[in-house]
Amino acid sequence: VSTAARPLRSEDGRLTGAVVVYSDVTGWVEALAAHQELVSNVSHEFKSPLNSIIGNIDLVLDDVAALPPHATQRLEVVQRNSERLLALVSDLSATASAALNVHPKRTDLASLVETSLGSAQALAGQANIELAAEVPSPLWAYADPLRIGQALDNLVSNAIKYSPGGGRVTVRALPGNRWVQLSVTDTGMGMSEAESSRVFQRFFRTDAARSASIAGAGLGLSITRMIVEGHGGTITCESAKGRGSTFTLTLPADGPPSSFQV
Ligand code: ADP
Repeated sequence: VSTAARPLRSEDGRLTGAVVVYSDVTGWVEALAAHQELVSNVSHEFKSPLNSIIGNIDLVLDDVAALPPHATQRLEVVQRNSERLLALVSDLSATASAALNVHPKRTDLASLVETSLGSAQALAGQANIELAAEVPSPLWAYADPLRIGQALDNLVSNAIKYSPGGGRVTVRALPGNRWVQLSVTDTGMGMSEAESSRVFQRFFRTDAARSASIAGAGLGLSITRMIVEGHGGTITCESAKGRGSTFTLTLPADGPPSSFQV
């Protein structure tokens, strides 16, 4: 059941009552689950043949001396594209499971931020980007540590990927009463307002990302949004072209929010 409530007020602003709407969303939830299961099964079935293709190409390319030069080049193109296809299929199966498998509990977000920045350190080092955290420890939220860890990894790796060298990525926290906010700010290429309003749509990529040949399928942020909304939370993007971007997650601090779907 999904619930929504609105207060009723008289002209002078006094509370006179409330309207509560209960909607039966069983059919919608079942249809979504069937769709997600199909995507998850299909992408799972694609993974084994793709892994076999990649494994065999890798073996052939291990012995470059035995190959004519033009065959090596062509096989490298096949290898690159098979790897892209595998990454796409993995992202698609993540899209399916992100919506369904959210198991929130009392979780310290500060340690998730530390883990996420730790695993991004190598990538940031290569790109000459400094990582920083301004997060009090502990920072409790009602969150699934695996899923929110995945969301943070997506945001931090995007912040690095879409920033030129010499930049800085900062994760900040803004604790509230019933909500906790975490933001990931970069000093990178940024986006126009029109682009940032579409950034959570599946397969959307900016022209700047495409023309700079930065690898990506345009699925990471749609998965991130599904994860956050699966917690009853929200995610927003503020960005300025050429100046950088800030993505802000809002999560319930303690227990499911009142508008949570059951
Ligand atoms: P991917 O990075 O694989 O393309 P995402 O869904 O993570 O997919 O991001 C969608 C698009 O949003 C990216 O292709 C890029 O154009 C833009 N984008 C995401 N994060 C940033 C960022 N921090 N700075 C600038 N552009 C970004």
